[in-house]
Amino acid sequence: MTQRRPLIAGNWKMNCLRADGLALASDLAAKASEKGALGCDVLVCPPATLLSEVVGVTKDSTVAVGGQDCHVATSGAHTGDIAAPMLADIGARYVLVGHSERRADHGESSTDIRCKAIAAHDAGLVAVVCVGETEQERDLGATLSVVNGQVAVSVPDGATAKNTVIAYEPVWAIGTGRTASVEEVAEVHTAIRSELVKRFEDGNEFRILYGGSVKPSNAAELLALEDVDGALVGGASLKVEDFWKIIETC
Ligand code: PGA
Repeated sequence: MTQRRPLIAGNWKMNCLRADGLALASDLAAKASEKGALGCDVLVCPPATLLSEVVGVTKDSTVAVGGQDCHVATSGAHTGDIAAPMLADIGARYVLVGHSERRADHGESSTDIRCKAIAAHDAGLVAVVCVGETEQERDLGATLSVVNGQVAVSVPDGATAKNTVIAYEPVWAIGTGRTASVEEVAEVHTAIRSELVKRFEDGNEFRILYGGSVKPSNAAELLALEDVDGALVGGASLKVEDFWKIIETC
């Protein structure tokens, strides 16, 4: 069986002023250093304003830092955007692409997301490609076709298990306190795995994270599933105790 090292990723979204964000990052880095070897990789994705300083406070720890989005271009007239090489330049190692909040709020399509993933790869970053169905799509029984379609288009041909992580996040479970059942999660992760295996030589080695109201009380049962290789955590990543408990379930 392929041994995939789990990844626990915190998506801070548009939260944390400087003092709170730096305290959170340094508490996490201190815990990670105190604990020594962890059973998983740890990633935090702070808002753009804090990226550079969070890289600074976590640099002597095992905590990696990622952006929450990047532009497809490497530079140019794109007011308000951040290019993947800029993230790499300040020491970020990952970037989320295609989070459902970006898809919904900024009209990003799976094609846009594929271009962003390519930009991330070109800059040497690991792209965390997010996919997930809406509640309406689930009610229509379209979950697997929607998710497989998003994976097919959003994940570029040049993806490998080293430069790409998939995050399955049902939209209806994000920030709602509702988590998909273990059966629902298992079904979708198995389907994503089989698409990856069909398409990529190292498809079995890609990490597939689950996201959507992951918290200390449900992390263990989700992370125990065969094709769940970690979690993308929003709300619960803003409290170091909760995020740490999730890390410890690995
Ligand atoms: P949540 O967010 O854990 O607050 O549901 C997850 C995400 O959107 O990445």
